[in-house]
Amino acid sequence: MADNLILGIDLGTTNSLAAVMTPTGPEIVRDADGASLVPSVIAFGAGGVTVGAEARAHAVENPTATVYSVKRLMGKSVDDLARVMDVLPYDVTPGKHDTVCVNVQGRHMSPQELSAIILRDIKTRAEAICQPGQKITRAVITVPAYFDDSQRQATRDAGRIAGLEVCRIVNEPTAAALAYGLDRAEDACIAVYDLGGGTFDVSILRVSGGVFEVLSTQGDTQLGGDDLDRELINLLTEEIRSQFGAELQFPPATRQALRTFAEATKVRLSTEESATVEVALGGGRVFTRTITRDEFESLASKWVDHTIEHCARALRDADLGPQDIDQVVMVGGSTRVPLVRSKTKDFFQREPYTAVNPDEIVALGAAVQAGILAGIKRDTLLLDVTPLSLGIETLGGAVGKLIMRNSTIPCQAAETFSTYVDGQTSVDIHVLQGERELAKDCRSLGKFQLTGIPPMPAGAPRVQVSFMLDANGILGVSAKELRSGKAASVQITPAHGLTHDEIDSMVQESYAHAIEDLNAHRLIDLRNESERILVAIDKAIETSGHVLSDQQRQALDAAVADLKTKRQQDDCDAVYEAMGAANEAATPLTEAQMDDVLSQTVKGRKMDDV
Ligand code: AMP
Repeated sequence: MADNLILGIDLGTTNSLAAVMTPTGPEIVRDADGASLVPSVIAFGAGGVTVGAEARAHAVENPTATVYSVKRLMGKSVDDLARVMDVLPYDVTPGKHDTVCVNVQGRHMSPQELSAIILRDIKTRAEAICQPGQKITRAVITVPAYFDDSQRQATRDAGRIAGLEVCRIVNEPTAAALAYGLDRAEDACIAVYDLGGGTFDVSILRVSGGVFEVLSTQGDTQLGGDDLDRELINLLTEEIRSQFGAELQFPPATRQALRTFAEATKVRLSTEESATVEVALGGGRVFTRTITRDEFESLASKWVDHTIEHCARALRDADLGPQDIDQVVMVGGSTRVPLVRSKTKDFFQREPYTAVNPDEIVALGAAVQAGILAGIKRDTLLLDVTPLSLGIETLGGAVGKLIMRNSTIPCQAAETFSTYVDGQTSVDIHVLQGERELAKDCRSLGKFQLTGIPPMPAGAPRVQVSFMLDANGILGVSAKELRSGKAASVQITPAHGLTHDEIDSMVQESYAHAIEDLNAHRLIDLRNESERILVAIDKAIETSGHVLSDQQRQALDAAVADLKTKRQQDDCDAVYEAMGAANEAATPLTEAQMDDVLSQTVKGRKMDDV
């Protein structure tokens, strides 16, 4: 890596990460296991100070000496922090000049010093992938657009304490747009919606001739995924008290455990319809609660609505309407919450852009900015990109994209799929190129088969498909069933035979058919999901059908029949509703199965182990 290296750092409330500009484009700094996110958590233990995942793992046993969300404290006074102080298990005390300090075992540390510990760790991780002995001394650090002067100054100071000259503080939305290469869009208005762990901001940018203009920004430095966690913590706390007595106290370790459970539940509810929490309260008392996505969404709704109000304000400030926005970019881990995506989509009347990992975009953009400051020519970034997206055909004829159009090459991506039929011993891999949502509308690059998978129930095999696009544009595709180790691969030259005009027309077509394609894709997803539900209901009837009353059984049969009819039709909303109705009619079965699992779990263990 070059001597003039400048590190791009996304110093986040929940997670931090770094990226560097290389001759082939920005690259995320990863550890030996491929992990990029460093939890912004610091633990002060008997063995010394630890940062990141290790520190977070100690949070439950060592809550008062584990510091997280320190970004919330940067440049703030005690008054500013009244709303969050009571949920932080560590001790926040007034510091000098109306600032705050964290008291860790009698040692008072400023938020800048704490952030510096995280920055130093990130710097060390980045140096580990540099040439031996190379030191990194300069950085670009991103901050929410809403950060005021004192918060920006505090961030700069944190860098200095960590031994980094902070060359530039960049707004996170600008970095996100840079990472997407949106500086190449011609005269477009972009909304960057960034919902992280502790901050929200929305920025309206106009890009023209490669120049960004920030038309407006709105946000709230005290709104984020942590608020959704807190809603769940409050729900659990109230219910625990009503079950075990209002006088029940929550020691720091239990509060920290509740926080961990709440966040894990929220994350699970992004992909699952319900999640179960089990909290050991000591003395053999265990609290168990299943939370559904609907329940979570009704708790989360007011927070998401606040973000939408900010979006409306930002548009008003920019003198624009939702119809003037050409692209909506989603940034921050909390944009994985389905309710966040759907409400944003409804407001801006367009599908939000979620192609790049929402956790990594800002760091990538910081590295692009760092590259510009270091004098690394951006042309190299612009030239070495893949002109069309690459993916594989998934069940029902949809396309699962692994490498997005305009990704810098060389690059690689992997995704894990499963089977849908019991005992399936082979999987067909159909490699596709193009921007459309359906396989039939994309260019077929090749097909191969992974055979010899041992027979397993549907959903059990884990087939990892990996794409590796090298600097010459040669695509290697491999598929491996992770349980049995069976593997197969093929090599393809994707750009072969395509002229610039052909590429342009494929991209144009994808814009022209965007809505129709998305609906078709959604219908396929819904049909797949409803098939899964029907199979699950069938199995549940076999094992627990006896718990149903005649009336419940009739209702379930009717809901199943309706779902079977609706999934043959083309109306997404009707399938979605029928899926909900079938799930609801199957609730007595699900509950019976859960009771079974729970009683078996408890039977197998002593109460104190639970
Ligand atoms: P950031 O500040 O951008 O790192 O975002 C961190 C926030 O995103 C935290 O509140 C996480 O709990 C949340 N988050 C990360 N992944 C998910 C997910 N899959 N579903 C819901 N929230 C998530």
